[in-house]
Amino acid sequence: MVSVAVNLQQVRARLERACADAQRCVQSVTLLAVSKTVEADRLREACAAGQFAFGENYVQEALDKIQALADLRAQLQWHLIGPLQSNKTREVAEHFDWVHAIDRLRIAERLSAQRPAGRPPLQVCLQVNISGEASKSGVLPAELASLARQVAGLPGLRLRGLMAIPQPSDEPEAQRLPYRALREMLEALRRDEGLDLDTLSIGMSADLEAAVAEGATLVRIGTAIFGSRPVAARSGPDREPTA
Ligand SMILES: *Cc1c(COP(=O)(O)O)cnc(C)c1O
Repeated sequence: MVSVAVNLQQVRARLERACADAQRCVQSVTLLAVSKTVEADRLREACAAGQFAFGENYVQEALDKIQALADLRAQLQWHLIGPLQSNKTREVAEHFDWVHAIDRLRIAERLSAQRPAGRPPLQVCLQVNISGEASKSGVLPAELASLARQVAGLPGLRLRGLMAIPQPSDEPEAQRLPYRALREMLEALRRDEGLDLDTLSIGMSADLEAAVAEGATLVRIGTAIFGSRPVAARSGPDREPTA
């Protein structure tokens, strides 16, 4: 079994190199360790190596790990990066720190109403469908400004920025194009809507460098930290479990 600590060191080195190449400061990019299908004990190994922000895709699996790591809760940041259905919003509002894949007002309204009083606002990103037909999730670019305005006005939430999952490509230039488009959408929301947004949640194990070159402020890295996932969960980042 691969060592989480060694992998983390390698990912941090990649991130440093990518930031140097892009003439960006390495502190401007947050490393999110994507831990779907990974056992709580291996998340503990990551914590011991200084990694405290985790991204999960499936609500129930995440709640089990949040509970298993309750002793570390004050240091941990839990991000939901997978699609969210309305019957799961209450648990997410109660237990997570961030939600990345909001693409409908109704989900945001439920999270807003269900965020417990006294907790800091839930930090949220809107998922944008930047590959057109290729993906079913994400708000369409034409509807983004209107959704952003409405979500930004909801109490209990703080809209931080945009997230996307592009079509995979092995070509560095092809990897950069959709990320560049997303960055331009973020800049347009700041400029035209006056929204105070600071987060571009882009980049995975295979395209971290392209994402950093296009302004990623948060990269979501799974395989390069924890090794490859079981086949059923590997097929796509968007997939909901069938069970
Ligand atoms: C699984 C997943 C990742 C991590 O992908 P890797 O290729 O393993 O780094 C990132 N983002 C989302 C939304 C995911 O579902």
